[in-house]
Amino acid sequence: MRAFVQDLQKPKPLDRLPRVDCSKLPLAHEGIRIDGQLSWRQHGDQVGLLAFSIYQDRLVLPGGERFAPRRSKCRDTIAFEFTNQPFGGQRRWFSCPECHSRVRLLFLVGVPRCRKCVGSKYTCQLEPTRVPGLERALEIRKRLDRQSSIASPFPRKPRDMHWKTWYRFRDQDELVAMRLFRLLCV
Ligand SMILES: [Zn+2]
Repeated sequence: MRAFVQDLQKPKPLDRLPRVDCSKLPLAHEGIRIDGQLSWRQHGDQVGLLAFSIYQDRLVLPGGERFAPRRSKCRDTIAFEFTNQPFGGQRRWFSCPECHSRVRLLFLVGVPRCRKCVGSKYTCQLEPTRVPGLERALEIRKRLDRQSSIASPFPRKPRDMHWKTWYRFRDQDELVAMRLFRLLCV
């Protein structure tokens, strides 16, 4: 668990996540389907390739590709929304599958999400030091048993410690574990 927490402490910058830009996708008129492929490159190498179909009102990512961006399920239907432009015509937007905000960019993290949804997910998952009492709980565990991690059972009481103290430490530890568990399950 501790290694897992450390992994989560390294936020992956948004600009390194595979994304789909609504303004760069072709426009499909009513009754027409346009098939194509999205691809992502990193340092000149292709790192992701994903088939899509565009209808007038939605983008469909059928999934099943072997070369899909990592961590992406990529099997989704994303609705489009349209707004009128001040000088005529319409602008097309994605409706974020999670919060339904109107957005131009979606990031492919598990399911496609807008910047705000990815951000809030990351902020709360990636900053476990914000869990009140976590550092103190880890310190106490170290004091009781050097090998202990937050995921292992609470260490036994050392001979020279009062039961009252040990119970207090154990209760604090349980509280922190519960807070951590809640964050990781968001
Ligand atoms: Zn969203």
